[in-house]
Amino acid sequence: HAKLNGKGRVMHYDGELNRVREFQLRVENEIRSGLERDEFEVWYQPIVDACSGKMAGVEALMRWPRRPAGPLPPDTFIGIAETCGLIHALGEFVLRRACRDLQPLYDLKLSVNISPAQFRDPEFENKVAHGLRENHFPAARLQLEVTETYVLENPERAAAAIANLKSFGTAIALDDFGTGYSSIGYLRRFNFDTIKIDKSLAGRVDSDPQAAALVSGTIRIATALGMAVTAEGVENAQQKRLLRQAGCDALQGYYFSQPMPIEALLRLRRERGDKPLAAGERLEALPEAGH
Ligand code: C2E
Ligand code: MG
Ligand code: MG
Ligand code: MG
Repeated sequence: HAKLNGKGRVMHYDGELNRVREFQLRVENEIRSGLERDEFEVWYQPIVDACSGKMAGVEALMRWPRRPAGPLPPDTFIGIAETCGLIHALGEFVLRRACRDLQPLYDLKLSVNISPAQFRDPEFENKVAHGLRENHFPAARLQLEVTETYVLENPERAAAAIANLKSFGTAIALDDFGTGYSSIGYLRRFNFDTIKIDKSLAGRVDSDPQAAALVSGTIRIATALGMAVTAEGVENAQQKRLLRQAGCDALQGYYFSQPMPIEALLRLRRERGDKPLAAGERLEALPEAGH
């Protein structure tokens, strides 16, 4: 009886594996044609200075309408692009497009996500330098967001790449802090400019005392090491208040604004300039319909 069950499971598992593989191959091809047809978009989510209440910068987030099949979230298609090498083309696209889009908004910093596979490329720093030059984008306005997976995968290469990029003046942020292992050992070793506290922690400060304790501990450690702290996933006024009180330097989340296309960001800047947010005020942004 057990054997039969076991066999049934194995067969089921094989079928599942094939379906996953089929989906990946299909998406791989769709990414390729999507790149050719210039189908990928970069949207921007405001990052607000916790003290002044002004928009300090934006995070570039990839969007893919994927016509006609329908949108896939970046977590999904970036994972697939990483396994087949297309991440390099996607990564270069995002960096160039974001520098081009943000170039005229000279008082905003630009944060771009970098996947571990991109850092494996020995030409990566040169490509970044090229993308900056091509768009006359000052290196000091750019921040690259990396995750601990990258740092842990090849610490020597990571340290070298981070040092090279920082020598241009580009800042490095550790993204998604509070997920994974998040050892404080590599905070010391890698000299990040900013730590981004993941929404799974920051978004729970108002409901989970443990999360709140971890957030304030992280902020104390980061501050002691001379690093700035950004909280992600701020969804309500209470979280905003608590994270500010705890000492976050910058805040990001749906409470302030969803990610938006460049046209909406430009309109927002035109309409309200760099006015700080009034108490309870949120930045207007289009809902992410269709994404
Ligand atoms: P991330 O870098 O941690 O980006 C933050 C994610 O949280 C974004 O999801 C953003 O839309 C979402 N978010 C922001 N505020 C809130 C909030 O208040 N509540 C909730 N629930 N979510 C919020 P998104 O755009 O789906 O991106 C997911 C992940 O995909 C990113 O996480 C990043 O790891 C990756 N990604 C996105 N664009 C790129 C890219 O251009 N290159 C690379 N390598 N990765 C990217
Ligand atoms: Mg990020
Ligand atoms: Mg994050
Ligand atoms: Mg993430």
